[in-house]
Amino acid sequence: MKALNPTFDGLGTTIFTTMSALAVEHGAINLGQGFPDEDGPADIRQKAADALMAGPNQYPPMAGLPALRQAVAAHDQRFYGLSYNWQDEVLVTSGATEALAACLFALLSPGDEVVLFEPLYDSYLPIIRQCGAIPKIVRLEAPDWRIPPDALAAAFSPATKLVLINSPMNPTGKLFAGGELAEIAILARRHDAYLLCDEVYEHLVFDGARHQPIAALPGMRERTLRIGSAGKTFSLTGWKVGYVSGPRELISAVAKAHQFLTFTTPPDLQAAIAYALGRDDTYYQGLAAALQAKRDRLASGLAGIGFTVLPADGTYFLTVLTDGIGPALESDEAYARWLTVEAGVAAIPCSAFYAGEAPPQNMVRFCFCKQDKVLEDAISRLAAKIGGK
Ligand code: PMP
Ligand code: GLN
Repeated sequence: MKALNPTFDGLGTTIFTTMSALAVEHGAINLGQGFPDEDGPADIRQKAADALMAGPNQYPPMAGLPALRQAVAAHDQRFYGLSYNWQDEVLVTSGATEALAACLFALLSPGDEVVLFEPLYDSYLPIIRQCGAIPKIVRLEAPDWRIPPDALAAAFSPATKLVLINSPMNPTGKLFAGGELAEIAILARRHDAYLLCDEVYEHLVFDGARHQPIAALPGMRERTLRIGSAGKTFSLTGWKVGYVSGPRELISAVAKAHQFLTFTTPPDLQAAIAYALGRDDTYYQGLAAALQAKRDRLASGLAGIGFTVLPADGTYFLTVLTDGIGPALESDEAYARWLTVEAGVAAIPCSAFYAGEAPPQNMVRFCFCKQDKVLEDAISRLAAKIGGK
Protein backbone atom coordinates (compact mmCIF):
# COMPACT_ATOMS: atom_id res chain seq x y z
CA MET A 1 0.00 0.00 0.00
CA LYS A 2 1.19 3.52 -0.73
CA ALA A 3 2.13 5.83 2.11
CA LEU A 4 -0.61 8.07 3.49
CA ASN A 5 -0.19 11.80 3.99
CA PRO A 6 2.72 11.94 6.45
CA THR A 7 1.50 15.19 8.02
CA PHE A 8 -1.47 13.41 9.51
CA ASP A 9 -0.53 9.74 9.36
CA GLY A 10 2.42 10.37 11.65
CA LEU A 11 0.34 12.08 14.33
CA GLY A 12 -1.13 10.48 17.42
CA THR A 13 -4.56 11.18 18.90
CA THR A 14 -4.62 14.60 20.58
CA ILE A 15 -3.43 14.79 24.16
CA PHE A 16 -6.86 16.14 25.15
CA THR A 17 -8.69 13.06 23.88
CA THR A 18 -6.02 10.76 25.31
CA MET A 19 -6.18 12.23 28.82
CA SER A 20 -9.99 12.42 28.83
CA ALA A 21 -10.15 8.72 27.92
CA LEU A 22 -7.64 7.87 30.66
CA ALA A 23 -9.70 9.90 33.16
CA VAL A 24 -12.84 7.94 32.26
CA GLU A 25 -11.00 4.61 32.42
CA HIS A 26 -9.70 5.32 35.93
CA GLY A 27 -12.62 7.30 37.33
CA ALA A 28 -10.42 10.38 37.67
CA ILE A 29 -11.69 13.93 38.03
CA ASN A 30 -10.99 15.43 34.62
CA LEU A 31 -9.03 18.67 34.95
CA GLY A 32 -7.34 17.90 31.63
CA GLN A 33 -9.28 18.81 28.49
CA GLY A 34 -10.64 22.37 28.63
CA PHE A 35 -14.40 22.33 28.85
CA PRO A 36 -16.84 23.61 31.48
CA ASP A 37 -18.77 20.93 33.40
CA GLU A 38 -21.92 23.07 33.39
CA ASP A 39 -23.69 24.03 30.18
CA GLY A 40 -23.99 27.64 29.07
CA PRO A 41 -26.99 29.88 29.85
CA ALA A 42 -30.44 28.24 29.55
CA ASP A 43 -31.93 31.11 27.52
CA ILE A 44 -29.26 30.68 24.84
CA ARG A 45 -29.90 26.95 24.64
CA GLN A 46 -33.63 27.64 24.49
CA LYS A 47 -33.08 29.98 21.52
CA ALA A 48 -31.25 27.19 19.70
CA ALA A 49 -34.03 24.72 20.49
CA ASP A 50 -36.69 27.16 19.30
CA ALA A 51 -34.78 27.85 16.09
CA LEU A 52 -34.35 24.15 15.48
CA MET A 53 -38.10 23.50 15.80
CA ALA A 54 -39.14 26.59 13.86
CA GLY A 55 -36.64 25.93 11.05
CA PRO A 56 -35.47 26.30 8.40
CA ASN A 57 -32.93 23.55 8.96
CA GLN A 58 -31.43 23.73 5.48
CA TYR A 59 -28.04 25.10 4.46
CA PRO A 60 -27.64 28.60 5.82
CA PRO A 61 -25.58 31.14 3.81
CA MET A 62 -21.97 30.04 3.33
CA ALA A 63 -20.59 33.07 5.20
CA GLY A 64 -23.03 32.63 8.10
CA LEU A 65 -26.50 33.84 9.06
CA PRO A 66 -26.75 37.62 8.54
CA ALA A 67 -27.98 37.98 12.14
CA LEU A 68 -24.82 36.34 13.49
CA ARG A 69 -22.48 38.25 11.19
CA GLN A 70 -24.18 41.48 12.31
CA ALA A 71 -23.81 40.41 15.95
CA VAL A 72 -20.09 39.65 15.51
CA ALA A 73 -19.49 43.03 13.84
CA ALA A 74 -21.41 44.77 16.66
CA HIS A 75 -19.41 42.80 19.25
CA ASP A 76 -16.07 43.81 17.74
CA GLN A 77 -17.17 47.44 17.68
CA ARG A 78 -18.56 47.34 21.21
CA PHE A 79 -15.56 45.73 22.90
CA TYR A 80 -12.63 46.92 20.80
CA GLY A 81 -13.81 49.83 18.64
CA LEU A 82 -13.07 47.71 15.56
CA SER A 83 -15.33 48.44 12.58
CA TYR A 84 -16.05 45.53 10.26
CA ASN A 85 -18.71 45.45 7.59
CA TRP A 86 -20.84 42.43 8.49
CA GLN A 87 -21.58 41.67 4.84
CA ASP A 88 -18.04 40.96 3.69
CA GLU A 89 -15.70 41.32 6.66
CA VAL A 90 -17.11 38.64 8.98
CA LEU A 91 -17.21 34.88 8.42
CA VAL A 92 -18.90 32.25 10.60
CA THR A 93 -17.09 28.91 10.94
CA SER A 94 -17.60 25.59 12.67
CA GLY A 95 -15.53 26.50 15.69
CA ALA A 96 -12.23 28.32 15.97
CA THR A 97 -10.52 25.11 14.88
CA GLU A 98 -12.06 25.36 11.44
CA ALA A 99 -11.44 29.12 11.39
CA LEU A 100 -7.75 28.53 12.04
CA ALA A 101 -7.49 25.95 9.26
CA ALA A 102 -9.42 28.11 6.78
CA CYS A 103 -7.25 31.16 7.54
CA LEU A 104 -3.99 29.20 7.27
CA PHE A 105 -5.09 27.55 4.00
CA ALA A 106 -6.11 30.94 2.63
CA LEU A 107 -2.88 32.73 3.51
CA LEU A 108 -0.05 30.23 3.19
CA SER A 109 1.83 28.85 0.21
CA PRO A 110 4.72 26.38 0.21
CA GLY A 111 7.91 28.00 1.52
CA ASP A 112 6.16 30.78 3.42
CA GLU A 113 7.40 31.27 6.98
CA VAL A 114 5.10 31.57 9.98
CA VAL A 115 6.27 33.13 13.25
CA LEU A 116 4.53 31.63 16.27
CA PHE A 117 5.05 31.25 19.98
CA GLU A 118 5.73 28.15 22.04
CA PRO A 119 4.07 26.62 24.02
CA LEU A 120 1.50 26.45 21.25
CA TYR A 121 -1.97 25.06 20.70
CA ASP A 122 -1.93 21.65 19.07
CA SER A 123 -3.88 22.34 15.87
CA TYR A 124 -1.52 25.01 14.48
CA LEU A 125 1.51 23.08 13.27
CA PRO A 126 -0.15 20.23 11.35
CA ILE A 127 -2.11 22.70 9.22
CA ILE A 128 0.90 24.98 8.70
CA ARG A 129 2.93 21.95 7.59
CA GLN A 130 0.12 20.74 5.33
CA CYS A 131 0.34 24.11 3.57
CA GLY A 132 4.04 23.44 2.95
CA ALA A 133 4.85 26.47 5.11
CA ILE A 134 7.74 26.65 7.57
CA PRO A 135 7.15 27.33 11.27
CA LYS A 136 9.57 29.74 12.98
CA ILE A 137 8.97 29.13 16.65
CA VAL A 138 9.82 31.61 19.41
CA ARG A 139 9.95 29.85 22.75
CA LEU A 140 8.57 31.67 25.78
CA GLU A 141 9.87 30.70 29.22
CA ALA A 142 8.07 30.32 32.53
CA PRO A 143 7.26 31.93 34.85
CA ASP A 144 6.36 35.17 33.07
CA TRP A 145 6.33 33.95 29.44
CA ARG A 146 7.68 37.28 28.23
CA ILE A 147 8.70 37.48 24.55
CA PRO A 148 12.51 37.52 24.19
CA PRO A 149 12.98 40.54 21.85
CA ASP A 150 16.09 39.22 20.11
CA ALA A 151 14.58 35.80 19.41
CA LEU A 152 11.45 37.52 18.10
CA ALA A 153 13.40 39.74 15.71
CA ALA A 154 15.51 36.77 14.58
CA ALA A 155 12.40 34.74 13.72
CA PHE A 156 11.46 37.23 10.98
CA SER A 157 12.92 37.10 7.46
CA PRO A 158 11.93 38.27 3.98
CA ALA A 159 9.96 34.99 3.71
CA THR A 160 7.79 35.76 6.76
CA LYS A 161 4.18 35.62 5.59
CA LEU A 162 2.31 35.38 8.85
CA VAL A 163 2.52 35.81 12.61
CA LEU A 164 0.17 33.63 14.65
CA ILE A 165 -0.70 34.91 18.12
CA ASN A 166 -2.84 33.23 20.77
CA SER A 167 -3.84 35.76 23.42
CA PRO A 168 -5.02 35.02 26.07
CA MET A 169 -2.71 32.07 25.59
CA ASN A 170 -3.39 28.37 26.08
CA PRO A 171 -1.83 26.77 28.15
CA THR A 172 0.07 29.61 29.89
CA GLY A 173 -2.80 31.99 30.68
CA LYS A 174 -0.60 34.81 29.34
CA LEU A 175 -2.21 37.98 28.07
CA PHE A 176 0.09 39.54 25.47
CA ALA A 177 1.02 42.94 26.89
CA GLY A 178 0.75 46.29 25.10
CA GLY A 179 4.51 46.70 24.53
CA GLU A 180 4.82 43.17 23.18
CA LEU A 181 1.93 43.66 20.79
CA ALA A 182 3.45 46.93 19.61
CA GLU A 183 6.78 45.19 18.94
CA ILE A 184 5.08 42.41 16.99
CA ALA A 185 3.14 45.02 15.02
CA ILE A 186 6.33 46.91 14.10
CA LEU A 187 8.02 43.72 12.88
CA ALA A 188 4.94 42.56 10.99
CA ARG A 189 4.66 45.88 9.18
CA ARG A 190 8.38 45.98 8.44
CA HIS A 191 8.22 42.51 6.87
CA ASP A 192 4.81 43.01 5.31
CA ALA A 193 3.46 40.01 7.22
CA TYR A 194 -0.14 39.13 8.04
CA LEU A 195 -1.40 38.51 11.58
CA LEU A 196 -3.64 35.64 12.60
CA CYS A 197 -4.99 36.12 16.12
CA ASP A 198 -6.54 33.22 17.99
CA GLU A 199 -8.55 35.15 20.57
CA VAL A 200 -10.94 32.41 21.70
CA TYR A 201 -10.36 33.31 25.37
CA GLU A 202 -10.94 37.05 24.78
CA HIS A 203 -13.63 37.30 27.48
CA LEU A 204 -11.94 35.03 30.01
CA VAL A 205 -9.56 37.65 31.40
CA PHE A 206 -9.04 38.31 35.10
CA ASP A 207 -8.04 40.86 37.74
CA GLY A 208 -9.53 43.79 35.85
CA ALA A 209 -7.18 43.31 32.88
CA ARG A 210 -8.56 43.72 29.37
CA HIS A 211 -7.85 41.76 26.26
CA GLN A 212 -6.37 43.92 23.53
CA PRO A 213 -6.64 42.71 19.94
CA ILE A 214 -3.60 43.54 17.83
CA ALA A 215 -6.04 44.44 15.04
CA ALA A 216 -6.86 47.60 17.01
CA LEU A 217 -3.28 48.92 16.85
CA PRO A 218 -2.57 51.58 14.22
CA GLY A 219 -2.06 50.13 10.75
CA MET A 220 -2.83 46.56 11.80
CA ARG A 221 -6.48 46.13 10.85
CA GLU A 222 -5.65 45.81 7.16
CA ARG A 223 -3.32 42.85 7.71
CA THR A 224 -5.04 41.04 10.61
CA LEU A 225 -7.55 38.21 10.92
CA ARG A 226 -9.18 37.86 14.35
CA ILE A 227 -10.78 34.61 15.52
CA GLY A 228 -13.36 34.20 18.31
CA SER A 229 -15.30 31.19 19.61
CA ALA A 230 -18.81 31.02 21.05
CA GLY A 231 -17.71 27.79 22.73
CA LYS A 232 -15.59 29.70 25.22
CA THR A 233 -17.59 32.91 25.45
CA PHE A 234 -20.84 31.09 26.28
CA SER A 235 -19.57 27.84 27.85
CA LEU A 236 -20.90 25.79 24.93
CA THR A 237 -17.74 24.13 23.64
CA GLY A 238 -19.63 21.32 21.91
CA TRP A 239 -21.47 23.73 19.62
CA LYS A 240 -18.38 24.57 17.58
CA VAL A 241 -19.45 28.02 16.46
CA GLY A 242 -16.54 30.29 15.61
CA TYR A 243 -16.11 33.57 13.74
CA VAL A 244 -13.41 35.46 11.88
CA SER A 245 -13.24 39.22 11.34
CA GLY A 246 -10.86 40.98 8.99
CA PRO A 247 -10.49 43.20 5.96
CA ARG A 248 -12.61 42.16 2.97
CA GLU A 249 -9.71 40.97 0.76
CA LEU A 250 -8.57 38.53 3.45
CA ILE A 251 -12.04 37.37 4.49
CA SER A 252 -12.87 36.72 0.84
CA ALA A 253 -9.88 34.33 0.56
CA VAL A 254 -10.69 32.65 3.89
CA ALA A 255 -14.28 32.10 2.72
CA LYS A 256 -12.95 30.25 -0.33
CA ALA A 257 -11.19 27.78 1.96
CA HIS A 258 -14.17 27.58 4.34
CA GLN A 259 -16.55 26.74 1.49
CA PHE A 260 -14.66 23.48 0.94
CA LEU A 261 -13.99 22.63 4.59
CA THR A 262 -17.48 22.76 6.10
CA PHE A 263 -19.27 25.24 3.80
CA THR A 264 -21.49 26.29 6.69
CA THR A 265 -22.47 25.78 10.36
CA PRO A 266 -25.81 24.60 11.88
CA PRO A 267 -28.34 27.45 11.59
CA ASP A 268 -30.06 26.93 14.96
CA LEU A 269 -26.75 27.31 16.79
CA GLN A 270 -25.88 30.40 14.75
CA ALA A 271 -29.24 31.99 15.58
CA ALA A 272 -28.74 31.38 19.28
CA ILE A 273 -25.22 32.85 19.26
CA ALA A 274 -26.47 35.90 17.34
CA TYR A 275 -28.80 36.46 20.28
CA ALA A 276 -26.14 35.64 22.87
CA LEU A 277 -23.44 38.04 21.67
CA GLY A 278 -25.73 40.96 22.45
CA ARG A 279 -25.90 40.12 26.16
CA ASP A 280 -25.20 43.06 28.43
CA ASP A 281 -21.99 43.77 30.29
CA THR A 282 -23.26 41.97 33.39
CA TYR A 283 -22.98 38.69 31.52
CA TYR A 284 -19.45 39.23 30.25
CA GLN A 285 -18.22 40.58 33.59
CA GLY A 286 -19.96 37.79 35.47
CA LEU A 287 -18.32 35.14 33.31
CA ALA A 288 -14.84 36.52 33.96
CA ALA A 289 -15.54 36.98 37.68
CA ALA A 290 -16.86 33.44 38.09
CA LEU A 291 -13.84 31.98 36.34
CA GLN A 292 -11.44 34.18 38.28
CA ALA A 293 -12.90 32.81 41.54
CA LYS A 294 -12.41 29.27 40.24
CA ARG A 295 -8.83 30.05 39.22
CA ASP A 296 -8.15 31.36 42.73
CA ARG A 297 -9.79 28.36 44.38
CA LEU A 298 -7.73 25.87 42.40
CA ALA A 299 -4.54 27.95 42.65
CA SER A 300 -4.65 28.13 46.42
CA GLY A 301 -5.46 24.42 46.71
CA LEU A 302 -2.55 23.47 44.44
CA ALA A 303 -0.18 25.85 46.22
CA GLY A 304 -1.23 24.31 49.52
CA ILE A 305 -0.14 20.92 48.22
CA GLY A 306 3.26 22.40 47.34
CA PHE A 307 3.04 23.00 43.59
CA THR A 308 4.53 26.22 42.24
CA VAL A 309 1.47 27.74 40.55
CA LEU A 310 2.32 30.07 37.67
CA PRO A 311 0.25 33.24 37.27
CA ALA A 312 -2.65 33.11 34.77
CA ASP A 313 -4.19 36.35 33.47
CA GLY A 314 -6.85 34.54 31.50
CA THR A 315 -8.15 31.30 29.87
CA TYR A 316 -9.46 28.16 31.56
CA PHE A 317 -6.03 26.98 32.69
CA LEU A 318 -3.40 27.01 35.41
CA THR A 319 0.06 25.62 34.83
CA VAL A 320 2.13 24.34 37.74
CA LEU A 321 5.75 23.29 38.22
CA THR A 322 5.91 19.75 39.52
CA ASP A 323 9.54 19.73 40.76
CA GLY A 324 9.85 17.94 44.08
CA ILE A 325 6.10 17.31 44.37
CA GLY A 326 4.99 13.68 44.16
CA PRO A 327 7.17 11.07 42.46
CA ALA A 328 10.22 11.96 40.33
CA LEU A 329 9.28 10.47 36.95
CA GLU A 330 11.01 10.47 33.57
CA SER A 331 8.62 12.88 31.84
CA ASP A 332 5.70 15.22 32.37
CA GLU A 333 3.56 12.77 30.44
CA ALA A 334 4.40 10.03 32.94
CA TYR A 335 3.62 12.52 35.70
CA ALA A 336 0.23 13.43 34.22
CA ARG A 337 -0.57 9.73 33.87
CA TRP A 338 0.45 9.16 37.48
CA LEU A 339 -1.79 12.03 38.58
CA THR A 340 -4.69 10.53 36.64
CA VAL A 341 -4.26 6.87 37.56
CA GLU A 342 -2.84 7.10 41.09
CA ALA A 343 -4.12 10.42 42.43
CA GLY A 344 -7.43 10.37 40.53
CA VAL A 345 -7.08 13.81 38.93
CA ALA A 346 -6.36 14.16 35.20
CA ALA A 347 -4.11 16.96 33.91
CA ILE A 348 -2.37 17.75 30.61
CA PRO A 349 1.43 17.43 30.33
CA CYS A 350 2.66 20.77 28.98
CA SER A 351 5.30 19.19 26.71
CA ALA A 352 2.33 18.45 24.42
CA PHE A 353 2.36 22.17 23.59
CA TYR A 354 5.98 22.13 22.39
CA ALA A 355 7.40 21.19 19.01
CA GLY A 356 11.01 22.31 19.46
CA GLU A 357 13.97 20.51 21.03
CA ALA A 358 13.95 19.51 24.69
CA PRO A 359 10.58 20.76 25.93
CA PRO A 360 10.35 21.33 29.68
CA GLN A 361 9.30 18.16 31.54
CA ASN A 362 8.29 19.75 34.83
CA MET A 363 4.95 21.36 34.02
CA VAL A 364 1.35 20.20 33.88
CA ARG A 365 -1.84 22.12 33.07
CA PHE A 366 -5.00 21.95 35.17
CA CYS A 367 -8.36 23.21 33.91
CA PHE A 368 -10.42 25.19 36.43
CA CYS A 369 -13.74 25.77 34.61
CA LYS A 370 -15.40 23.17 36.85
CA GLN A 371 -17.96 23.27 39.64
CA ASP A 372 -16.50 24.37 42.98
CA LYS A 373 -17.27 21.00 44.55
CA VAL A 374 -15.36 19.25 41.74
CA LEU A 375 -12.35 21.53 42.26
CA GLU A 376 -12.48 20.89 46.02
CA ASP A 377 -12.67 17.13 45.49
CA ALA A 378 -9.73 17.28 43.11
CA ILE A 379 -7.67 19.22 45.65
CA SER A 380 -8.60 16.69 48.37
CA ARG A 381 -7.57 13.78 46.18
CA LEU A 382 -4.24 15.39 45.32
CA ALA A 383 -3.60 16.31 48.96
CA ALA A 384 -4.41 12.75 50.07
CA LYS A 385 -1.90 11.31 47.61
CA ILE A 386 0.80 13.94 47.66
CA GLY A 387 0.35 15.60 51.04
CA GLY A 388 0.32 19.27 51.92
CA LYS A 389 2.70 21.95 53.07
N1 PMP B 1 -7.62 27.85 19.98
C1 PMP B 1 -7.29 27.62 21.26
C2 PMP B 1 -6.12 28.33 21.85
C3 PMP B 1 -8.04 26.74 22.03
O1 PMP B 1 -7.69 26.50 23.29
C4 PMP B 1 -9.14 26.10 21.44
C5 PMP B 1 -9.85 25.14 22.34
N2 PMP B 1 -10.89 24.62 22.06
C6 PMP B 1 -9.45 26.37 20.10
C7 PMP B 1 -8.67 27.24 19.39
C8 PMP B 1 -10.59 25.72 19.38
O2 PMP B 1 -11.81 26.33 19.62
P1 PMP B 1 -13.19 25.72 19.06
O3 PMP B 1 -13.65 24.75 20.08
O4 PMP B 1 -14.08 26.89 18.89
O5 PMP B 1 -12.88 25.04 17.77
N1 GLN C 1 -8.90 23.62 23.65
C1 GLN C 1 -9.11 22.52 24.54
C2 GLN C 1 -7.96 22.45 25.53
O1 GLN C 1 -6.95 23.08 25.37
C3 GLN C 1 -9.24 21.20 23.86
C4 GLN C 1 -10.06 21.12 22.64
C5 GLN C 1 -9.92 19.76 22.03
O2 GLN C 1 -10.03 18.75 22.72
N2 GLN C 1 -9.64 19.72 20.77
O3 GLN C 1 -8.09 21.72 26.47
